[in-house]
Amino acid sequence: MPELPEIASRAAEMKKELIGRKIAGVKVFQPKCLNVSKAKFIRALKGAKIEEISHHGKWIFTHTTKGWLLINMGMGGELLLVPCDVLPEKRQVVFEFGDGDCLSVSFWWFGHTHYAAEGKLDGHKMSAKLGPNALDVKLPEFRKMLEGRRGNVKSFLLNQERIAGIGNAYAHDILFLAGLHPLRTIDTLEDDEVKALWNGVRKGLGMSLKRGGAWYEKDLYGKPGRFTQKMLLVGYREGEPCPTCGGKVVKIKTGSTSTFICPKCQPLKAKKSPAKKTTKTKKRAAAKRRK
Ligand SMILES: [Zn+2]
Repeated sequence: MPELPEIASRAAEMKKELIGRKIAGVKVFQPKCLNVSKAKFIRALKGAKIEEISHHGKWIFTHTTKGWLLINMGMGGELLLVPCDVLPEKRQVVFEFGDGDCLSVSFWWFGHTHYAAEGKLDGHKMSAKLGPNALDVKLPEFRKMLEGRRGNVKSFLLNQERIAGIGNAYAHDILFLAGLHPLRTIDTLEDDEVKALWNGVRKGLGMSLKRGGAWYEKDLYGKPGRFTQKMLLVGYREGEPCPTCGGKVVKIKTGSTSTFICPKCQPLKAKKSPAKKTTKTKKRAAAKRRK
């Protein structure tokens, strides 16, 4: 399933190739992936010139002279720029550019190609509620986002309305990099642990982003991402040695998902509870004053 590194890479590739191109034709092979009727979708985007391309969470936003094209690759698939005469067999929507090139959209499951008129992007419910892109969040903002939250760190990372772009594939290594157990509750995190989690998000996503995303998704030209399975730290490495301590990586149940962790490097117990720490610190300060 594509997550931020893959989506951001596709958006960057599309930006490089498609800005300034005009959509000469639109072909829809699976109308149920649209949010409007097939006729309206085609009418809306035919003749539109592509002006800007960006991404938010797992959505790619294409701004055109006739409004917005929004693509979500769902559980994965292929977004390919190909000559129109060699289109892949399975495709849901195809955009023709009139110069012989086509953008072919094909996803395995649950993908969307949506349209939003100019000025109506806020009304696109599936993307309007997304939290900020995970890699755009600065540390002070990240601290604020966690304030007052009670759930566990893994649920927070996966909740797209809090922080957008992280899915199960990268969550394992993000938590490992942060040294945090997935079920640690947010209200028990120390300041340095919050910083470690923020750093984990940046590193965990960044190491794949700089390689064009994961091996299991293809780029716009049909080549697999250069972030390979071997580069994963603990994710999907059950029984293998932890890269830090050499202990065995285990797979544990975390609600409806599983997580790969190193139990030694990611203990569930908080180092100390914040409440006790506060009392102790106060006592220590009081003792100091008495001296
Ligand atoms: Zn370890």
